[in-house]
Amino acid sequence: MATPHPQVFFGDRLVPAAAATVGVASSAVLYGLSVYTVFPVHRSAGTRTAFRLADHFRRLEESCKIIGIDRFAQEWDYARFEATVRELIGANEPQDEVFVRASVHVVESLPGTRVRGTAITVSMFVYDAVPIVPQDGMRLKASPWRRIPDNAIPSRAKVNGAYVNSVLAKQDAIDSGYDDCVFLDGNGHVCELSAANIFLVRGGTLITPDVSCDILDGINRRTVLTLAAEDGIPVLERTVDLTELYIADEVFVTGTSAGAAPVLEVDGRIVGDGRPGPISQALRKRHHAALRTDDAHGWLTRLD
Ligand code: PMP
Repeated sequence: MATPHPQVFFGDRLVPAAAATVGVASSAVLYGLSVYTVFPVHRSAGTRTAFRLADHFRRLEESCKIIGIDRFAQEWDYARFEATVRELIGANEPQDEVFVRASVHVVESLPGTRVRGTAITVSMFVYDAVPIVPQDGMRLKASPWRRIPDNAIPSRAKVNGAYVNSVLAKQDAIDSGYDDCVFLDGNGHVCELSAANIFLVRGGTLITPDVSCDILDGINRRTVLTLAAEDGIPVLERTVDLTELYIADEVFVTGTSAGAAPVLEVDGRIVGDGRPGPISQALRKRHHAALRTDDAHGWLTRLD
């Protein structure tokens, strides 16, 4: 993780980064009981904008609801969230592209594992936007670790504790000389990467696992699906077999920290002709513009 910029929102105010700490006896630390989201803030023509901020807030609310963190809905609404982002960005004035990580921590020390009615602290910090996967073509490995199913720890909720699953799979991929993992579910169907959604192209059709395939309902996934439909590309959301990735014409991934980046190899099989394909490239361009300058969809929130 990159270093937080100097001012961090913690609880109800901005504090120096070193002062934004959660206790060792908190449920956030003991049980991984925090939920979060990460969104980008870009600067173009002197204006800073956040991408799909309302959607990020809604997903954070939904993560809380799934896990049972009920105080967030009582204490926070979108107006407060947006005002806090504005205050945080105003205090740090980032000069380049940054990510903002907003978390809801369960800070109560508990004698046991429960959540309903527990006290929360919200934190938000800014860090430099460094991609987590190569942007010019990555190599993926099917993971020996299975994706956590919806009836164990739901991937739909962005809960910190669940990221142990991603850590295991990503570390295994790196140790094996790959850039990232492909998570499969218990039936061998493709889910996602450690922190990105996956797409493939076959015969001109864009295919991605549907939202009930134990994936995070990624905001960049939704964005690319919208842009593809607008460009007249046929889109299918359905279960995907691992071997479909082996014979795909194109494979790419999406995510806030992953961008919309091409995959050139899966388990030692070269994807297509070994170069980023035309649909991946076109959608990467459209995605890049939608995050920064093209506000045809009302996805950009001005912060200054
Ligand atoms: N899946 C997982 C497991 C993730 O952590 C992320 C990153 N947030 C994504 C997918 C991509 O989601 P988004 O497009 O909202 O960043």
